[in-house]
Amino acid sequence: MNDFTNCPQLYKYRAVDQLPEPASIDAERGKLIHAILEDLFELPAGERTFESATELLPRKWQEQLASTPELATLVLDEKEWFDRAQSLLTNYFILENPVAFEPSFRELHLERDISEEIYLHGYVDRLDIAPTGEVRIVDYKTGKSPKPGWEEKALFQLRVYALLYWRNQGVLPHLLQLLYLGDTKTIKSVPTESQLLSTERILNAIGAEILTALESDHFPTKKSRLCDWCFFKAICPAHN
Ligand code: SF4
Repeated sequence: MNDFTNCPQLYKYRAVDQLPEPASIDAERGKLIHAILEDLFELPAGERTFESATELLPRKWQEQLASTPELATLVLDEKEWFDRAQSLLTNYFILENPVAFEPSFRELHLERDISEEIYLHGYVDRLDIAPTGEVRIVDYKTGKSPKPGWEEKALFQLRVYALLYWRNQGVLPHLLQLLYLGDTKTIKSVPTESQLLSTERILNAIGAEILTALESDHFPTKKSRLCDWCFFKAICPAHN
């Protein structure tokens, strides 16, 4: 949905044509850190230390290399790669103390038909249910926090998760939390029913636009600064 909002043609290349894209080093770094944090919570609370997290690093990296062999050509300096990963893990421990709580779910799959024609699903990095019943939805970001004024856009993804959880479980999450390991910042938001209903309306509106684009096979290009990072620029009609 983000792709479609940013540029319908980009959405077509990715979601409809499913053209392959090369691995991105930032995305792969994010996957590695997410995998380590997921496994960290397999350990008993008292063992969830920075040392345990860094011990997981070589094994998770080998697993990632096995599943994405082309990474070997992207990561030319393994020491630098490990140093950067360790620094992100250091930042994680500045933001949270994983010894102090028990997560309820990691990589929780949420799904729902939000209308007759639109099925929506996503994976939540972590969902914590307090003994008193309050639900917290947590998402890790390995980049830096958004500039002032862009927090709402960043929170949209978590509001979608909150909406799915609320609709499926009948429980309104208490807190949404984005942890930015790139610059040790946290964005928190207390979702309200009206925010989630508004999120649902936006999702239905974007979904309807996607269906119209599919039916008419019309996916307009939308030039923006994103084009400079778009892998498909070389074949995009807006640039050729
Ligand atoms: S280059 Fe720009 S306009 Fe073209 S598909 Fe990519 S994002 Fe869209």
